[in-house]
Amino acid sequence: MNVQFSRRQFLKGTGAGVAGSAIGAFGFGGAEVALAQAAQAFKLSKATETRNTCPYCSVSCGMILYSRGDVKKGEKAEIFHIEGDVDNPVNRGTLCPKGAGALDFIHSKQRVTRPMHRKPGSDKFEPVTWDFAMERIAKLMKEDRDANFVEKTRDGVTVNRWPTMGFLAGCATSNEAGWLTWKAVRGLGIVAVDNQARI
Ligand code: SF4
Repeated sequence: MNVQFSRRQFLKGTGAGVAGSAIGAFGFGGAEVALAQAAQAFKLSKATETRNTCPYCSVSCGMILYSRGDVKKGEKAEIFHIEGDVDNPVNRGTLCPKGAGALDFIHSKQRVTRPMHRKPGSDKFEPVTWDFAMERIAKLMKEDRDANFVEKTRDGVTVNRWPTMGFLAGCATSNEAGWLTWKAVRGLGIVAVDNQARI
């Protein structure tokens, strides 16, 4: 079939909706019109876009999380789609299979979303509040630092180190948060610092 249409017809046909009438403007028949009318609305058209970082590995690829539901209106927000962030200089929109499957990670029933605590002698972890967790961690860190901090070596050299504590940081932070983490940890004298993100 030799179909000819003007520039005006083409622009009309590629305009909003891609509906049957537009396809008809191209001069196609009923099958194409039916196909166009059966097309579903673009699933991301009303989604909220939120930028984030893949939590899986040290590459720290940028992601865009698409969600529906407005919590300010009392609705339940739910992430329903994830894509690589094309504006992120690390991955330029790409994601490896792990990152591309992050939606399952987010909705996994086994995902830990609250701090967990195993009491001394217990064989199971139980959920606790963030206040409890932070106070417990701070208390234990203080006790350990008071007991093990080394101000000087036997030769009298000032070292100010805390050799019995280690700190592992994550990848899903900004450069600025990483800088603050480093300063806080080194300021306490912690020597063993490692970070998932090596970018
Ligand atoms: S998408 Fe893949 S490569 Fe990128 S941070 Fe996630 S796990 Fe690492």
